Amino acid sequence: MIEVEPGIHIYRLQLPFPDSTLDYVNAYLVEGDRDNGHLLIDTGWDTKEAFDSLKKQLVEIGINLEDISQIVVTHVHPDHYGLAGKLKRLYNAKLALHHLEKDFIESRYINMDKLLQQMEHLLQANGTPPDELTKLQTASLPMIRFVTPVLPDVTLYGGETITTGYFSFKVLPTPGHASGHICLYEPGRKILFSGDHVLPTITPHVGLHPQSGSNPLGDYIDSLNGLKQLDVKLVLPGHEQPFTTFKPRLKEIIQHHQHRNREILSALKASPKTAYQTATEITWMHDVKGVGWDKLGPWDKRMAVLETLSHLEAMKIMGKLEKTTRDNIIYYSIPGPGKTNEPAR
Ligand SMILES: [Zn+2]
Ligand SMILES: [Zn+2]
Repeated sequence: MIEVEPGIHIYRLQLPFPDSTLDYVNAYLVEGDRDNGHLLIDTGWDTKEAFDSLKKQLVEIGINLEDISQIVVTHVHPDHYGLAGKLKRLYNAKLALHHLEKDFIESRYINMDKLLQQMEHLLQANGTPPDELTKLQTASLPMIRFVTPVLPDVTLYGGETITTGYFSFKVLPTPGHASGHICLYEPGRKILFSGDHVLPTITPHVGLHPQSGSNPLGDYIDSLNGLKQLDVKLVLPGHEQPFTTFKPRLKEIIQHHQHRNREILSALKASPKTAYQTATEITWMHDVKGVGWDKLGPWDKRMAVLETLSHLEAMKIMGKLEKTTRDNIIYYSIPGPGKTNEPAR
């Protein structure tokens, strides 16, 4: 528990990831008043460790869980949304979520069969070898036990104002990392709760998947550009540390994706490739972990394939790549001279 600045009435609560002493998600407690109660932004996983840690940190501030009257979740990934159901059931806080995220709850956490089928089809069509298909398809299932699904009391569309004692937060839709991701902006204090949209040193995963829309990377870059106009003095992110260098960080993240695009283009110079083949050749994911592609676990491989796919599709939409299908498998290639959009004669 850390008050993010002395006297600011906002506390950062670091909640542990399951089976990890290093990783944590930041939830934030925003102090309220008698009329509005306290506001909790994001919740952590539904694990005993995260729940106990949340309780303990709140006690240190002098706040009881019962006094939280509102919960806003930036997006329904397990680390941000997992504990929302339990908190709502136990303490009756009102939960607010973007409508797109609300629509994913059923298919991701309650009846997953259709989504699993769509994921299998997507991975197969993008070149995942048959012997790896099931592992990659089901890689996210172990996370589901850390989520208690619950529907929101308040559905957000963007542009709403959420008030507490000291603050009025504007809801800003920021699709990309998640289709219904939102940030909260406090114009008076120039504070941005950025969720997973803008993080200080890591870049959030932006993958193309059955529920991402057709161009998640394009959406992500547009959402970053859309925030450039904001006057932000303090960013309170969903992971890592709060930071103040908002605009330079936006620029850095955009440049980082441009660099990845160039890496992918050079991987495609020699021959057309599937998203899976391309992912095995580019350095980011497996070199960061330092283990090589073959040693990556199914979850990391799936993220690498879907993230590569988001780049490939974005560049296809920009006209930098062509897409062809052979034997039901999709290949991306660099258009040859005179080949682009040349009508058949
Ligand atoms: Zn996330
Ligand atoms: Zn996260």
